[in-house]
Amino acid sequence: MYDVLIKNGRYPDYQTMEFVSADIAISDGKIIEIGKIDGEAKTVIDATGRIVSPGFIDIHMHEEYFVRDGLSYEVANYMLQMGVTTCMGGNCGSTHTPVKEFKKAIEQMGGAPVNYMIQTGYNTIRDGMGIDRYQPANGEQISIIAKQVQEDLLAGAYGISFGLEYDPGITFDEVMTVLNTQPQENLYVSAHYRDDSTGAIDAIHEMIQIAKESGKRFQISHLSSCSAMGQMDEALEILNRAMAENPKLQYDTYPYTAFATRIGSAVFDEGCFEKWGKSYENVWLTSGKYMNQFCTKEIFEEVRRDDPDVRAVAFMMNDDEIAKAIANPIGCMIGSDGGVNRGTGHPRAAGTFPRVLGKYVREDNVLPLIEALYKMTKVTADRLELYKKGRIEVGCDADITIFDPDTIMDGATFENLNIKPVGIDAVIVNGRLAMKDNVQIDGRAGRFIPGPYMEE
Ligand SMILES: [Zn+2]
Repeated sequence: MYDVLIKNGRYPDYQTMEFVSADIAISDGKIIEIGKIDGEAKTVIDATGRIVSPGFIDIHMHEEYFVRDGLSYEVANYMLQMGVTTCMGGNCGSTHTPVKEFKKAIEQMGGAPVNYMIQTGYNTIRDGMGIDRYQPANGEQISIIAKQVQEDLLAGAYGISFGLEYDPGITFDEVMTVLNTQPQENLYVSAHYRDDSTGAIDAIHEMIQIAKESGKRFQISHLSSCSAMGQMDEALEILNRAMAENPKLQYDTYPYTAFATRIGSAVFDEGCFEKWGKSYENVWLTSGKYMNQFCTKEIFEEVRRDDPDVRAVAFMMNDDEIAKAIANPIGCMIGSDGGVNRGTGHPRAAGTFPRVLGKYVREDNVLPLIEALYKMTKVTADRLELYKKGRIEVGCDADITIFDPDTIMDGATFENLNIKPVGIDAVIVNGRLAMKDNVQIDGRAGRFIPGPYMEE
Protein backbone atom coordinates (compact mmCIF):
# COMPACT_ATOMS: atom_id res chain seq x y z
CA MET A 1 0.00 0.00 0.00
CA TYR A 2 1.38 3.39 -1.04
CA ASP A 3 1.12 6.42 1.22
CA VAL A 4 -0.09 8.67 -1.60
CA LEU A 5 -1.03 7.89 -5.20
CA ILE A 6 -1.46 10.77 -7.64
CA LYS A 7 -3.47 9.60 -10.65
CA ASN A 8 -3.82 10.95 -14.19
CA GLY A 9 -1.70 14.08 -13.92
CA ARG A 10 1.08 15.48 -16.09
CA TYR A 11 4.52 16.25 -14.71
CA PRO A 12 7.41 18.27 -16.19
CA ASP A 13 10.26 16.15 -17.51
CA TYR A 14 13.28 18.45 -17.47
CA GLN A 15 15.37 16.11 -19.62
CA THR A 16 13.07 16.56 -22.61
CA MET A 17 11.44 19.80 -21.41
CA GLU A 18 8.03 18.28 -22.05
CA PHE A 19 5.10 17.29 -19.88
CA VAL A 20 4.56 13.56 -19.37
CA SER A 21 1.27 11.87 -18.41
CA ALA A 22 1.74 9.41 -15.56
CA ASP A 23 0.63 8.31 -12.12
CA ILE A 24 3.02 8.94 -9.26
CA ALA A 25 3.29 6.80 -6.13
CA ILE A 26 4.76 8.03 -2.86
CA SER A 27 5.86 6.15 0.23
CA ASP A 28 8.09 7.08 3.17
CA GLY A 29 8.53 10.61 1.89
CA LYS A 30 9.90 9.58 -1.50
CA ILE A 31 8.63 9.18 -5.04
CA ILE A 32 8.84 5.42 -5.49
CA GLU A 33 7.11 4.77 -8.79
CA ILE A 34 6.15 6.70 -11.91
CA GLY A 35 3.98 5.27 -14.70
CA LYS A 36 0.67 3.45 -14.96
CA ILE A 37 0.00 2.49 -11.34
CA ASP A 38 -3.04 0.58 -10.04
CA GLY A 39 -2.01 -0.28 -6.49
CA GLU A 40 -3.79 0.85 -3.36
CA ALA A 41 -2.90 3.93 -1.37
CA LYS A 42 -3.90 5.56 1.90
CA THR A 43 -4.55 8.77 -0.03
CA VAL A 44 -5.49 8.92 -3.70
CA ILE A 45 -5.47 12.24 -5.52
CA ASP A 46 -7.11 12.54 -8.92
CA ALA A 47 -4.98 14.98 -10.92
CA THR A 48 -6.88 14.81 -14.21
CA GLY A 49 -6.20 18.01 -16.14
CA ARG A 50 -3.64 19.08 -13.57
CA ILE A 51 0.10 19.64 -13.52
CA VAL A 52 1.97 17.62 -10.92
CA SER A 53 5.00 19.80 -10.34
CA PRO A 54 7.94 19.44 -8.02
CA GLY A 55 7.11 21.68 -5.04
CA PHE A 56 8.20 25.25 -5.65
CA ILE A 57 11.46 26.30 -4.03
CA ASP A 58 11.67 29.88 -2.84
CA ILE A 59 15.32 30.85 -2.79
CA HIS A 60 14.66 34.28 -1.40
CA MET A 61 12.25 34.98 1.44
CA HIS A 62 12.37 36.40 4.96
CA GLU A 63 11.77 33.98 7.79
CA GLU A 64 9.87 34.07 11.07
CA TYR A 65 10.77 36.18 14.10
CA PHE A 66 10.87 33.30 16.58
CA VAL A 67 12.78 35.11 19.30
CA ARG A 68 10.60 38.21 19.13
CA ASP A 69 7.22 36.63 18.47
CA GLY A 70 7.48 33.17 20.04
CA LEU A 71 7.17 29.73 18.57
CA SER A 72 4.61 29.84 15.81
CA TYR A 73 4.64 30.11 12.02
CA GLU A 74 3.45 33.02 10.01
CA VAL A 75 5.19 33.45 6.67
CA ALA A 76 5.78 29.70 6.23
CA ASN A 77 2.01 29.17 6.16
CA TYR A 78 1.73 31.62 3.28
CA MET A 79 4.60 29.84 1.56
CA LEU A 80 2.73 26.54 1.72
CA GLN A 81 -0.47 28.13 0.43
CA MET A 82 1.26 29.28 -2.73
CA GLY A 83 2.77 25.87 -3.43
CA VAL A 84 6.21 26.37 -1.93
CA THR A 85 7.65 23.29 -0.23
CA THR A 86 11.17 24.54 0.53
CA CYS A 87 12.30 28.07 1.26
CA MET A 88 15.44 30.00 2.13
CA GLY A 89 15.40 32.75 4.74
CA GLY A 90 18.05 35.08 6.10
CA ASN A 91 18.23 37.22 2.98
CA CYS A 92 19.23 40.84 2.30
CA GLY A 93 21.77 40.84 5.13
CA SER A 94 19.10 40.21 7.70
CA THR A 95 18.32 37.22 9.89
CA HIS A 96 15.14 37.65 11.93
CA THR A 97 16.05 34.72 14.16
CA PRO A 98 19.66 33.75 14.92
CA VAL A 99 20.59 30.53 13.08
CA LYS A 100 20.98 28.41 16.20
CA GLU A 101 17.65 29.56 17.63
CA PHE A 102 15.98 29.11 14.29
CA LYS A 103 16.97 25.49 13.97
CA LYS A 104 16.05 24.80 17.59
CA ALA A 105 12.63 26.47 17.22
CA ILE A 106 11.72 24.27 14.24
CA GLU A 107 12.81 21.17 16.09
CA GLN A 108 10.89 22.17 19.22
CA MET A 109 7.73 22.62 17.19
CA GLY A 110 8.15 19.21 15.60
CA GLY A 111 8.68 20.53 12.09
CA ALA A 112 7.51 23.40 9.91
CA PRO A 113 4.82 23.94 7.26
CA VAL A 114 7.58 23.79 4.60
CA ASN A 115 11.23 22.79 4.52
CA TYR A 116 13.30 25.66 5.79
CA MET A 117 16.86 26.79 5.07
CA ILE A 118 18.57 29.90 6.36
CA GLN A 119 21.55 32.15 5.72
CA THR A 120 23.33 34.28 8.24
CA GLY A 121 22.72 37.97 7.62
CA TYR A 122 25.87 40.05 7.52
CA ASN A 123 24.09 43.30 8.38
CA THR A 124 22.37 41.74 11.37
CA ILE A 125 25.74 40.79 12.85
CA ARG A 126 27.29 44.13 11.92
CA ASP A 127 24.40 46.25 13.24
CA GLY A 128 24.32 44.11 16.39
CA MET A 129 27.88 45.21 17.14
CA GLY A 130 26.82 48.84 17.01
CA ILE A 131 28.81 49.66 13.88
CA ASP A 132 27.51 52.83 12.21
CA ARG A 133 25.73 51.89 9.01
CA TYR A 134 27.40 54.71 7.10
CA GLN A 135 30.93 53.84 8.30
CA PRO A 136 33.18 51.02 7.14
CA ALA A 137 33.96 48.37 9.74
CA ASN A 138 37.61 48.29 10.88
CA GLY A 139 39.87 45.25 10.67
CA GLU A 140 39.19 44.11 14.20
CA GLN A 141 35.43 44.43 13.74
CA ILE A 142 35.56 42.53 10.47
CA SER A 143 37.38 39.64 12.07
CA ILE A 144 34.74 39.44 14.82
CA ILE A 145 31.99 39.39 12.18
CA ALA A 146 33.86 36.78 10.13
CA LYS A 147 34.12 34.57 13.19
CA GLN A 148 30.40 34.89 13.87
CA VAL A 149 29.70 33.92 10.26
CA GLN A 150 31.75 30.75 10.75
CA GLU A 151 29.83 29.93 13.93
CA ASP A 152 26.54 30.33 12.10
CA LEU A 153 27.70 28.12 9.24
CA LEU A 154 28.67 25.44 11.74
CA ALA A 155 25.25 25.88 13.38
CA GLY A 156 23.46 25.09 10.12
CA ALA A 157 23.35 28.24 8.00
CA TYR A 158 23.58 27.53 4.29
CA GLY A 159 25.42 30.72 3.38
CA ILE A 160 25.77 34.41 4.04
CA SER A 161 23.71 37.33 2.80
CA PHE A 162 24.63 40.99 2.43
CA GLY A 163 22.38 44.05 2.38
CA LEU A 164 24.74 46.49 0.69
CA GLU A 165 22.07 49.15 0.26
CA TYR A 166 20.96 49.01 3.88
CA ASP A 167 24.40 49.68 5.37
CA PRO A 168 26.12 51.94 2.85
CA GLY A 169 29.27 51.79 4.98
CA ILE A 170 29.91 48.20 3.82
CA THR A 171 32.59 48.78 1.21
CA PHE A 172 33.71 46.44 -1.56
CA ASP A 173 36.91 45.84 0.43
CA GLU A 174 34.94 44.96 3.56
CA VAL A 175 32.93 42.36 1.64
CA MET A 176 36.07 40.92 0.06
CA THR A 177 37.90 40.75 3.39
CA VAL A 178 35.04 38.87 5.01
CA LEU A 179 34.62 36.47 2.10
CA ASN A 180 38.33 35.82 1.81
CA THR A 181 38.45 34.74 5.44
CA GLN A 182 35.73 32.12 4.88
CA PRO A 183 37.48 28.84 4.07
CA GLN A 184 34.46 27.24 2.33
CA GLU A 185 35.42 27.55 -1.30
CA ASN A 186 31.97 27.05 -2.71
CA LEU A 187 30.15 29.09 -0.06
CA TYR A 188 26.74 30.43 -1.06
CA VAL A 189 26.68 34.22 -0.90
CA SER A 190 23.71 36.39 -1.74
CA ALA A 191 23.43 40.13 -1.91
CA HIS A 192 20.86 42.83 -1.98
CA TYR A 193 22.62 45.32 -4.31
CA ARG A 194 24.08 48.65 -3.23
CA ASP A 195 21.83 50.86 -5.33
CA ASP A 196 18.89 50.70 -7.72
CA SER A 197 17.57 52.57 -10.78
CA THR A 198 20.24 55.04 -11.93
CA GLY A 199 22.73 53.26 -9.67
CA ALA A 200 21.74 49.74 -10.77
CA ILE A 201 24.39 49.16 -13.40
CA ASP A 202 27.27 50.16 -11.12
CA ALA A 203 25.75 48.00 -8.39
CA ILE A 204 25.58 45.00 -10.73
CA HIS A 205 29.17 45.52 -11.84
CA GLU A 206 30.22 45.53 -8.18
CA MET A 207 28.47 42.21 -7.51
CA ILE A 208 29.92 40.63 -10.65
CA GLN A 209 33.34 41.70 -9.39
CA ILE A 210 32.75 40.28 -5.90
CA ALA A 211 31.61 37.00 -7.44
CA LYS A 212 34.66 36.82 -9.67
CA GLU A 213 37.30 37.80 -7.12
CA SER A 214 35.89 35.74 -4.24
CA GLY A 215 35.25 32.61 -6.30
CA LYS A 216 32.20 31.85 -4.13
CA ARG A 217 28.73 31.03 -5.45
CA PHE A 218 27.08 34.41 -5.75
CA GLN A 219 23.36 35.16 -5.97
CA ILE A 220 22.11 38.60 -6.97
CA SER A 221 18.89 39.12 -5.05
CA HIS A 222 15.59 40.31 -6.54
CA LEU A 223 17.01 41.76 -9.76
CA SER A 224 13.75 43.47 -10.72
CA SER A 225 13.67 45.72 -7.67
CA CYS A 226 17.16 46.86 -8.60
CA SER A 227 16.80 47.47 -12.31
CA ALA A 228 13.19 47.39 -13.51
CA MET A 229 13.22 51.18 -13.48
CA GLY A 230 14.57 51.61 -16.98
CA GLN A 231 17.82 49.62 -16.66
CA MET A 232 16.73 46.02 -17.27
CA ASP A 233 17.95 45.64 -20.87
CA GLU A 234 21.41 46.84 -19.97
CA ALA A 235 21.43 44.89 -16.70
CA LEU A 236 20.58 41.62 -18.46
CA GLU A 237 23.09 42.21 -21.20
CA ILE A 238 25.89 42.71 -18.68
CA LEU A 239 24.69 39.89 -16.46
CA ASN A 240 24.25 37.35 -19.25
CA ARG A 241 27.81 37.94 -20.34
CA ALA A 242 29.10 37.68 -16.77
CA MET A 243 27.04 34.56 -16.02
CA ALA A 244 28.29 32.86 -19.17
CA GLU A 245 31.84 33.44 -17.95
CA ASN A 246 31.09 32.60 -14.32
CA PRO A 247 28.39 29.95 -13.82
CA LYS A 248 28.63 30.48 -10.05
CA LEU A 249 26.88 33.81 -10.58
CA GLN A 250 23.06 33.75 -10.84
CA TYR A 251 20.07 35.82 -9.82
CA ASP A 252 16.50 35.70 -8.56
CA THR A 253 13.57 37.96 -9.25
CA TYR A 254 9.94 38.48 -8.20
CA PRO A 255 6.79 39.36 -10.17
CA TYR A 256 5.55 42.64 -8.67
CA THR A 257 5.98 46.28 -9.66
CA ALA A 258 6.46 47.44 -6.09
CA PHE A 259 9.11 46.69 -3.51
CA ALA A 260 8.59 46.95 0.24
CA THR A 261 10.83 47.80 3.16
CA ARG A 262 10.94 49.80 6.41
CA ILE A 263 10.21 53.45 5.76
CA GLY A 264 13.24 54.31 7.91
CA SER A 265 15.52 52.39 5.54
CA ALA A 266 18.39 54.09 3.75
CA VAL A 267 16.54 53.19 0.53
CA PHE A 268 14.38 56.27 1.15
CA ASP A 269 17.26 58.64 1.86
CA GLU A 270 17.31 62.13 0.32
CA GLY A 271 17.16 62.11 -3.46
CA CYS A 272 15.47 58.71 -3.88
CA PHE A 273 12.38 60.04 -5.65
CA GLU A 274 14.39 62.07 -8.14
CA LYS A 275 16.39 58.92 -8.89
CA TRP A 276 13.27 56.81 -9.48
CA GLY A 277 11.42 59.53 -11.36
CA LYS A 278 8.50 59.00 -8.96
CA SER A 279 7.13 60.80 -5.89
CA TYR A 280 5.69 60.43 -2.37
CA GLU A 281 2.33 59.41 -3.85
CA ASN A 282 3.96 56.18 -5.10
CA VAL A 283 4.63 55.02 -1.53
CA TRP A 284 1.91 52.99 0.20
CA LEU A 285 2.05 52.28 3.95
CA THR A 286 1.01 48.85 5.20
CA SER A 287 1.20 49.42 8.93
CA GLY A 288 1.06 52.15 11.59
CA LYS A 289 -1.08 55.28 11.85
CA TYR A 290 -1.46 55.72 8.10
CA MET A 291 -1.97 52.04 7.27
CA ASN A 292 -3.35 51.35 3.76
CA GLN A 293 -2.76 54.88 2.49
CA PHE A 294 -0.51 56.46 -0.09
CA CYS A 295 1.87 59.08 1.30
CA THR A 296 1.97 62.80 0.90
CA LYS A 297 5.21 64.66 1.53
CA GLU A 298 3.98 65.45 5.06
CA ILE A 299 2.93 61.88 5.90
CA PHE A 300 6.15 60.44 4.47
CA GLU A 301 8.34 62.77 6.53
CA GLU A 302 6.31 62.31 9.71
CA VAL A 303 6.32 58.50 9.60
CA ARG A 304 9.97 58.28 8.60
CA ARG A 305 10.86 60.44 11.58
CA ASP A 306 8.44 59.08 14.22
CA ASP A 307 7.78 55.46 13.22
CA PRO A 308 10.67 54.22 11.03
CA ASP A 309 9.65 50.55 11.30
CA VAL A 310 6.43 51.11 9.37
CA ARG A 311 6.44 49.02 6.18
CA ALA A 312 6.31 51.01 2.99
CA VAL A 313 5.40 49.66 -0.43
CA ALA A 314 7.04 51.61 -3.22
CA PHE A 315 5.51 51.36 -6.73
CA MET A 316 8.65 52.13 -8.68
CA MET A 317 9.10 49.30 -11.25
CA ASN A 318 7.93 48.74 -14.84
CA ASP A 319 6.05 45.56 -15.68
CA ASP A 320 7.67 44.90 -19.07
CA GLU A 321 11.09 44.96 -17.40
CA ILE A 322 9.93 42.55 -14.70
CA ALA A 323 8.77 40.21 -17.47
CA LYS A 324 12.21 40.36 -19.10
CA ALA A 325 13.92 39.44 -15.84
CA ILE A 326 11.58 36.45 -15.42
CA ALA A 327 11.93 35.25 -19.02
CA ASN A 328 15.71 35.56 -19.27
CA PRO A 329 16.90 32.12 -20.46
CA ILE A 330 19.90 31.73 -18.17
CA GLY A 331 20.80 32.14 -14.54
CA CYS A 332 17.30 33.04 -13.36
CA MET A 333 15.13 31.68 -10.60
CA ILE A 334 11.97 32.90 -8.93
CA GLY A 335 12.24 34.14 -5.34
CA SER A 336 9.42 35.89 -3.52
CA ASP A 337 11.37 38.22 -1.22
CA GLY A 338 8.27 37.66 0.92
CA GLY A 339 8.19 38.35 4.61
CA VAL A 340 5.32 38.82 7.02
CA ASN A 341 5.62 41.02 10.07
CA ARG A 342 2.80 40.47 12.58
CA GLY A 343 0.18 40.01 9.90
CA THR A 344 1.36 42.67 7.51
CA GLY A 345 3.56 42.54 4.46
CA HIS A 346 3.85 42.59 0.69
CA PRO A 347 1.54 40.25 -1.26
CA ARG A 348 4.59 38.63 -2.83
CA ALA A 349 4.81 36.55 0.37
CA ALA A 350 1.47 34.96 -0.49
CA GLY A 351 1.23 35.14 -4.27
CA THR A 352 4.57 35.09 -6.07
CA PHE A 353 4.54 31.60 -7.58
CA PRO A 354 0.87 31.47 -8.66
CA ARG A 355 1.31 34.98 -10.05
CA VAL A 356 4.20 33.97 -12.30
CA LEU A 357 2.17 31.00 -13.60
CA GLY A 358 -1.12 32.89 -13.95
CA LYS A 359 -0.10 36.34 -15.12
CA TYR A 360 3.30 35.95 -16.78
CA VAL A 361 2.83 32.47 -18.27
CA ARG A 362 -0.89 32.17 -19.05
CA GLU A 363 -2.07 35.73 -19.54
CA ASP A 364 0.96 37.59 -20.84
CA ASN A 365 2.74 34.69 -22.62
CA VAL A 366 6.09 35.86 -21.36
CA LEU A 367 7.51 32.33 -21.15
CA PRO A 368 6.29 28.74 -21.56
CA LEU A 369 4.84 26.98 -18.52
CA ILE A 370 7.54 24.36 -18.35
CA GLU A 371 10.30 26.98 -18.37
CA ALA A 372 8.63 28.89 -15.55
CA LEU A 373 8.38 25.68 -13.52
CA TYR A 374 12.01 24.94 -14.29
CA LYS A 375 13.00 28.31 -12.76
CA MET A 376 10.88 27.57 -9.66
CA THR A 377 12.08 24.03 -9.05
CA LYS A 378 15.03 22.38 -10.81
CA VAL A 379 17.25 25.43 -11.27
CA THR A 380 16.75 26.43 -7.65
CA ALA A 381 17.24 22.93 -6.29
CA ASP A 382 20.52 22.58 -8.18
CA ARG A 383 21.60 26.02 -7.02
CA LEU A 384 21.08 24.92 -3.41
CA GLU A 385 22.61 21.47 -3.98
CA LEU A 386 19.25 19.82 -3.23
CA TYR A 387 19.63 17.11 -5.82
CA LYS A 388 16.68 15.09 -4.45
CA LYS A 389 14.34 18.04 -4.85
CA GLY A 390 13.10 20.09 -7.76
CA ARG A 391 12.37 17.15 -10.04
CA ILE A 392 9.88 14.31 -10.38
CA GLU A 393 12.06 11.21 -10.47
CA VAL A 394 12.02 7.89 -8.66
CA GLY A 395 13.97 8.22 -5.41
CA CYS A 396 13.46 11.97 -5.11
CA ASP A 397 11.83 13.68 -2.15
CA ALA A 398 8.06 13.78 -2.45
CA ASP A 399 7.68 17.56 -2.35
CA ILE A 400 4.90 18.12 -4.87
CA THR A 401 2.51 20.89 -5.89
CA ILE A 402 -0.56 19.98 -7.94
CA PHE A 403 -2.23 22.83 -9.78
CA ASP A 404 -4.55 23.72 -12.64
CA PRO A 405 -2.59 25.60 -15.30
CA ASP A 406 -5.83 27.10 -16.65
CA THR A 407 -6.87 28.78 -13.42
CA ILE A 408 -3.84 29.23 -11.18
CA MET A 409 -3.50 32.85 -10.01
CA ASP A 410 -2.40 34.83 -6.99
CA GLY A 411 -4.99 36.43 -4.74
CA ALA A 412 -3.15 38.52 -2.16
CA THR A 413 -3.20 42.30 -2.60
CA PHE A 414 -1.45 45.22 -0.97
CA GLU A 415 -4.59 45.74 1.15
CA ASN A 416 -5.16 42.10 2.01
CA LEU A 417 -2.47 39.50 2.33
CA ASN A 418 -5.01 36.82 3.21
CA ILE A 419 -6.71 36.38 -0.14
CA LYS A 420 -5.57 32.90 -1.10
CA PRO A 421 -4.30 31.90 -4.51
CA VAL A 422 -6.65 29.90 -6.72
CA GLY A 423 -5.93 26.82 -8.80
CA ILE A 424 -3.69 24.94 -6.37
CA ASP A 425 -5.29 21.59 -5.52
CA ALA A 426 -2.75 20.06 -3.20
CA VAL A 427 0.70 20.50 -1.74
CA ILE A 428 2.71 17.53 -0.50
CA VAL A 429 5.74 18.05 1.72
CA ASN A 430 8.10 15.14 2.42
CA GLY A 431 5.37 12.73 1.31
CA ARG A 432 2.72 14.17 3.63
CA LEU A 433 -0.37 15.90 2.31
CA ALA A 434 0.14 19.36 3.81
CA MET A 435 -2.50 21.35 1.95
CA LYS A 436 -5.63 20.35 0.07
CA ASP A 437 -7.99 22.80 -1.67
CA ASN A 438 -6.54 25.78 0.20
CA VAL A 439 -6.95 24.12 3.59
CA GLN A 440 -3.84 23.39 5.61
CA ILE A 441 -3.98 19.79 6.77
CA ASP A 442 -0.50 19.27 8.13
CA GLY A 443 1.62 22.19 9.28
CA ARG A 444 4.61 20.15 10.42
CA ALA A 445 5.62 18.10 7.38
CA GLY A 446 8.62 20.32 6.66
CA ARG A 447 11.96 20.26 8.41
CA PHE A 448 15.06 22.34 8.85
CA ILE A 449 17.59 21.66 6.11
CA PRO A 450 21.09 22.49 7.34
CA GLY A 451 23.83 23.78 5.15
CA PRO A 452 26.74 21.47 4.28
CA TYR A 453 29.01 22.78 7.04
CA MET A 454 26.91 21.99 10.08
CA GLU A 455 28.61 20.29 13.00
CA GLU A 456 26.43 17.86 14.90
ZN1 LIG B 1 16.45 42.72 -0.41
